[in-house]
Amino acid sequence: MNTPAVTDSIVQNRRRYRHNRVLDIIRSKEGVSRYDIKKITSYSIETILDITGELLREGFIYEEAGRNGRIGRRPVSLYINAHGGYFAGVEFNSQRIQGVLLNFAKEPVHGEMLPVSADDDAAVLLEKVETVIERLLAARPSGGKKVIGVGLGLPGFFDPETGSAISYDFLPSWKDIPIKKIIEDRFRLPCFIENNVAVIAMAYRWLMFREEPEDFLFVSIRTGVRIVPWYGGRFIFEGKSYVGQLGHVKVPGSNRLCNCGERGCLNAEITDPGIRNKMIEMILNHRMAGISGRINGNLECLNVDMLKEAVLEKDPHAIDLVQDSAVKLGHCLGMMVDILAPNVIVLSGKLVSMGGIFMDAVEKGIRQNTINGSTSKIRLVNSTLEDNAGAWGAAVLALLRSFEFETLQI
Ligand SMILES: [Zn+2]
Repeated sequence: MNTPAVTDSIVQNRRRYRHNRVLDIIRSKEGVSRYDIKKITSYSIETILDITGELLREGFIYEEAGRNGRIGRRPVSLYINAHGGYFAGVEFNSQRIQGVLLNFAKEPVHGEMLPVSADDDAAVLLEKVETVIERLLAARPSGGKKVIGVGLGLPGFFDPETGSAISYDFLPSWKDIPIKKIIEDRFRLPCFIENNVAVIAMAYRWLMFREEPEDFLFVSIRTGVRIVPWYGGRFIFEGKSYVGQLGHVKVPGSNRLCNCGERGCLNAEITDPGIRNKMIEMILNHRMAGISGRINGNLECLNVDMLKEAVLEKDPHAIDLVQDSAVKLGHCLGMMVDILAPNVIVLSGKLVSMGGIFMDAVEKGIRQNTINGSTSKIRLVNSTLEDNAGAWGAAVLALLRSFEFETLQI
């Protein structure tokens, strides 16, 4: 039997659900009328008048006599108020922290970036993340409404139940940090967390496939290889931390040491640190003379950008290195293609910017390790997102979760 308190909370939940659903419809269908909302939801007109009245008072929407130019009685159209609220998004890794403030129409209002130094421990990194959030909140335009939520794209692993960051391979002191609580206590705002690759995929979905509800497999190649499958308007690993780790799949014939302690992982073949190790081996074996001449014996300064330069100079060893690594990635992706059958695979990372030399070899690897025919429909796409895309995605995450919106449709 329900107690009065339970009944009250059910009524509250239902009211909140209806409030958010109507807001989601107005957000998705610009210029919708109250009558249209009634047709979509089957709510009574009293309920719709009540909810839209509340949304107007909250400043989330505004109304205007119909813009469709029809003669006669024009229905009142409802629109999202772009300045009805703001969302702060932050995405970071061991190199830098990116931050973006978005308004309710998902337009960027302000951006921030802070570099992370190799000497920064967890406390310093956390302090920098808080500084970026502070600056984003301070950048809210005067006269605009309040910031509604903060989204974080975290590196490494996290616990979605407790809101704690668990660990991050590239920063040993980053351990068991109750980051959601720390941010919520400091800024008095709800904080929503996801893996940093998931928020980049979210940004990709929103920026690139805005009109097209296409399913895709997002592949991020940075310090690790991680995949985010996007199916039916949402990513299927939502809120799960230890998933999408394509980087620890074993590559046949590979014996390189991965930072997980095992040998033969894809990560040791294709990530930025993995590629760097291969470059060091080549140079110690007197190959890639162009790069070797430029670095003056300082192997520490090698990076993927230098490899790209050598590829542009048509250094045969550099081209071999890129193509061999890309085919290995393709082999591992071939397995995913046989399992998930995506229409589109979006590749993101520094190697991807090498274009055809890299992408064609990935495709070759996929075709070599896929059952016949399943690759014919696949489109390989080179993600052209900017470095702050993850921060945009994190802000969108805050928008969606603040109102429990189910999809990214707009
Ligand atoms: Zn591994």
